Amino acid sequence: MSPKLFKLTAIFLLACAGLAPQIPMAQTSGAFINIYSARHYPTDEALYADFTKSTGIKINRVDSDDAGILTRLKAEGQASPADVILLVDAARLWRAEIDGLFLPVKSKLLEEAIPENLRAKRSDNGGIPWFGLSTRARVIVYDKLKLQKSDVDTYEKLADPKLRGKLCIRSGSHPYNLSLFGAMTEHMGPQQTEAWLKGLVNNLARNPVGGDTDQIKGVASGECAVAVTNTYYLARLMRSANADDKALVEKVSVVFPNQSSWGTHLNIAGGAVAKNSKNQENALKFLEYLASTSAQNHFANGNNEWPAAKGVSFENLALKTMSGGGFKNEVLPVSAVGMNQIKVQQMLDRVGFK
Ligand code: FE
Repeated sequence: MSPKLFKLTAIFLLACAGLAPQIPMAQTSGAFINIYSARHYPTDEALYADFTKSTGIKINRVDSDDAGILTRLKAEGQASPADVILLVDAARLWRAEIDGLFLPVKSKLLEEAIPENLRAKRSDNGGIPWFGLSTRARVIVYDKLKLQKSDVDTYEKLADPKLRGKLCIRSGSHPYNLSLFGAMTEHMGPQQTEAWLKGLVNNLARNPVGGDTDQIKGVASGECAVAVTNTYYLARLMRSANADDKALVEKVSVVFPNQSSWGTHLNIAGGAVAKNSKNQENALKFLEYLASTSAQNHFANGNNEWPAAKGVSFENLALKTMSGGGFKNEVLPVSAVGMNQIKVQQMLDRVGFK
């Protein structure tokens, strides 16, 4: 079958299956890539526009959540029009890799730019299945009128009976927590981690509800005294012009946990070339662009994430202020953290962490 006919057949089959991507046909002529993105950050628009401006390669984007993207890729199989996959969280990237949805790629540029612990392990064909492109820390926020910094300066202390009825945290099985708990399993071993998770459940101020911002709000409203959040949610509130957000930020303090042991847990957002990409060269060009200084600055300034690429300087006052200019982060391979998620989910079920 000719490539053109194959494409038309694929589109027809997808349309029959109700899976045809919402991509305008007008944009499938000339150089283009189709991106399936789970990055739900409006500030990323400038990132895509800059790429098109500098390369002439147009971008068609399908936005969905991570689970939606993975389901769709599996349903589309070989006929998938996806060229680039952007996911947030190491656990999800690992899952997609295991499910065979990525095409391992060889790129000297990406291998030099992205530290080894922030990317997938090399696959048998010598390529790398995915790359971390930005990082976020999972930190602790607390009510400074109710607690001292020394009460909550490690993840382990969140399970201390002293914090009974004081902890707010989103669902245990949310990927951000699966990754944190997967990292704890690497640091403390499974037995100690399970006991720690039981301690977290015992300390809950309420059943897990909402996202990270809701946990910060829980501390500000007095419903809880301590909570766990990704840094960009806090930075977003810190940079907000909204008076309510400003008042909220006034009430909470932040601590980067485990500074005197293994360091604060880091997670990543990352990208990969899709297994069945029909535009592999341009897809790789886009991933390489995301590691450039200007794209890395978009992540830092737009969505308050730390650059993943080595040696990139950036300006983001909120990130600098909250971390006191810098912090010690853990240096586990993020792929190992992803690998632990099934084990972690079983522990969560046993300790009743919803
Ligand atoms: Fe998020």
